[in-house]
Amino acid sequence: MSTSAGAGLIRPQAPTTLPACSPLSAPESSAPRSLYKNQPSSVPILRGGEDSNSELPVVTMVHETGYYDLLGVSPKASQEDLKKAYRKLALKYHPDKNPNEGDKFKLISQAYEVLSNPEKRTLYDQGGEQAIKEGGMSGGTSPMDMFNMFFGGGGRMQRERRGKNVVHQLSVSLEEMYKGGSRKLGLQKSVICDSCEGYGGKKGALEKCSSCKGRGVQIKVQQIGPGMIQQIQSMCAECQGQGEKFNSKDRCKNCNGRKVERQKKILEVHIDKGMREGQKNTFTGEGDQEPRVEPGDVIIVLDQKEHPLFQRKETDLTMKMNIKLAEALCGFKKTIQTLDDRMLIISSHPGEVIKHGDIKCVQNEGMPIYREPFEKGQLFINFQVDFPEKGWLPEHLMFQLERLLPPRDDVMITDDMEEVQLCEVDVRTHQRSTSGEPYEEDEEGPRSGVQCQTQ
Ligand SMILES: [Zn+2]
Ligand SMILES: [Zn+2]
Repeated sequence: MSTSAGAGLIRPQAPTTLPACSPLSAPESSAPRSLYKNQPSSVPILRGGEDSNSELPVVTMVHETGYYDLLGVSPKASQEDLKKAYRKLALKYHPDKNPNEGDKFKLISQAYEVLSNPEKRTLYDQGGEQAIKEGGMSGGTSPMDMFNMFFGGGGRMQRERRGKNVVHQLSVSLEEMYKGGSRKLGLQKSVICDSCEGYGGKKGALEKCSSCKGRGVQIKVQQIGPGMIQQIQSMCAECQGQGEKFNSKDRCKNCNGRKVERQKKILEVHIDKGMREGQKNTFTGEGDQEPRVEPGDVIIVLDQKEHPLFQRKETDLTMKMNIKLAEALCGFKKTIQTLDDRMLIISSHPGEVIKHGDIKCVQNEGMPIYREPFEKGQLFINFQVDFPEKGWLPEHLMFQLERLLPPRDDVMITDDMEEVQLCEVDVRTHQRSTSGEPYEEDEEGPRSGVQCQTQ
């Protein structure tokens, strides 16, 4: 907020209000109102008699909502709601910001201290403030300590709520995604300095920065026209915008006053069966630590490595399989090594002709389904028939082969027909254009085979 120079705030001359330099000054005019206005903060005790002075037994349970009212939340509020409410109010009524509301700050922190502790909250819900006092559970923590504990720092206001998330890619093989497992990942991260506990130096030795008077920013005022002034706000260079600093002898030697140090952290990334490319593993709060900032998350994104045999599409796998012409025509038995190292045998029966580019599938041999690892997708096999090379059969044996093959079509040749030359095509491009992969778009332009035909 105050780390970069912000210019252009044009305000009428005198009285000059300083621009906001911490979230504290977010304008909120009214005091916290109870959301339960119609509900008295303490329900009167119903007594059996008509006279309030008579000492008759209590009929209903005391149910106070005073602490909830102070924080402006419902008695059913979750811990999260309480935290949110406390954060907002504590920032607003902090004595640095609102010196005349010291009592309010104290009350808010008392209320939060009780309600944020499940044991004390139950006691309060049952017996009100009285029960807290009698149980010796009140006032353990000073409002300022409570504030510091909550915001995790040395008394100054929080500038940012949360640190940045850090995203890393993790290259994972298809086998790992199939079988599941875990990987250890070493990361360098900033952690709060151990020697000074993120204080940056000797406790109590922190001095208010004299150049910015503790504001962390320096403000220059310039007249830019009649009755108009411009304020330029920039981070105080003396204290790096902190508003306070240590003199060199009190500064922490371990972190040199930086409050954090670099450390190696090992994260264990779990790869569940069936996880996919782009799937995330979130390590909450494992981002860089910084005083008064809630650390961000480390997010590990899976990046699937190419596999030499299998291509994956969602839960299905596809592979190419080359077979000989004899196998295509007369049947075969072939093996496939799975991603978890099992051996599958597939076969075609004699008489079942497999054509070049035929696709067959094996049920339940695809990828495991994420979170249902006993269910699997399909395995598609794309058959490639290897025809024999030129001249594989002596010409005099051709007729024997032809006798066994289905008969050829007779062609009627007439005089008005034109005989042309059949020429060779670039074998590589031709093979690619006819390979017919089930999921691959052909990125080639006009095929050379087609070009040859149109010549
Ligand atoms: Zn230190
Ligand atoms: Zn300063």
